[in-house]
Amino acid sequence: MFARDASGWHVLEVTNQSTGYCPDPDCWPAVRESLDRLGIAHPGDFTAKVVFRCCPSCGERNIVRDGDFTCALCDSELPARWNFTSA
Ligand SMILES: [Zn+2]
Repeated sequence: MFARDASGWHVLEVTNQSTGYCPDPDCWPAVRESLDRLGIAHPGDFTAKVVFRCCPSCGERNIVRDGDFTCALCDSELPARWNFTSA
């Protein structure tokens, strides 16, 4: 979320929540680097972190809540590491 004021564009809120790309919160350094390069002020980290995992059993995209790595669809265990490809 971007906002514009007298000093230019800055970031009010940053979230990695995206149903299309499903990035891991660990990608913040890349986001920060982009913002720094653009000269856009930012909060220093994601203001809302969403952990996505793709279920290895059924392929469902899950949002992990409260550290519960269980597929909402088939109850399979979700991998501890981010497992989406950027393809
Ligand atoms: Zn599943």
